[in-house]
Amino acid sequence: MWSYRHQSFTVHQLAVLRDNYIYLIEAHKSDTLIVVDPAVAVDVKIACKTLGKKLTHVFNTHHHWDHTDGNLSLKQAFDCLIVGAQHDAKRIPGIDIKVNEQQPPDIAGLNIQVIDVPGHTLGHIAFVLDDALFCGDTLFGGGCGRLFEGTPAQMLHSLDQLAALDGNSKIYCAHEYTLANLAFAQTIDPDNNALNKRIQNDQARRQQQQPTIPSSMAVELATNPMLRPLHNDFCLAYAKRNQLEKHDALTVFSDIRLKKDHW
Ligand SMILES: [Zn+2]
Repeated sequence: MWSYRHQSFTVHQLAVLRDNYIYLIEAHKSDTLIVVDPAVAVDVKIACKTLGKKLTHVFNTHHHWDHTDGNLSLKQAFDCLIVGAQHDAKRIPGIDIKVNEQQPPDIAGLNIQVIDVPGHTLGHIAFVLDDALFCGDTLFGGGCGRLFEGTPAQMLHSLDQLAALDGNSKIYCAHEYTLANLAFAQTIDPDNNALNKRIQNDQARRQQQQPTIPSSMAVELATNPMLRPLHNDFCLAYAKRNQLEKHDALTVFSDIRLKKDHW
């Protein structure tokens, strides 16, 4: 378990299954303990024991099993409340509190924002607590989620919403895919010095069995090939290099996303 202190809460990170991350958000000034995307229950129960606290809430970013499989077991063990997207309530096991951008969860002492981020699934949401972003399978270290349900335009819009967050925001995504994503990024953006530096840095972290996550929004904006289309200069250069007729962000993003699917 790795821990990261923010002003009003601490985030604890658990590595489970092959490459999933589960996060526990421990409030500093109340008994609130939230788990984000519990792929499995057992590791969460052990972590709660270690922290000496009971789970009060489950937050789900989307319905996939490797984000919700622990829901019912945790609800039974802790009588906690399950929070998920109103739009996708039918697919969130045990949901109690249905949220959307206008109605984020109201939990004493915490400043919580919900952002709709369709693309990977149609009902995908992200939770923002102060400077911490819990984005599930929307934005990854050096990549973004596959488009299982949404369109490239939806995903690009979702990524654009997240990119508007402060550059210092910490990115707590749900998988450790960073090194593979960055290897792909090098084929898209070979002359990017920030990218090459990040690869060295993240390779060193993995060699020491450390996570590459959380990253920061500033690092993602500079190196993530799924966010680079938000920069016009990048689009112009990419369209030229790949002989695309158009150089708007959607054309460039769609081309890169498709290349990643077949990489
Ligand atoms: Zn997913």
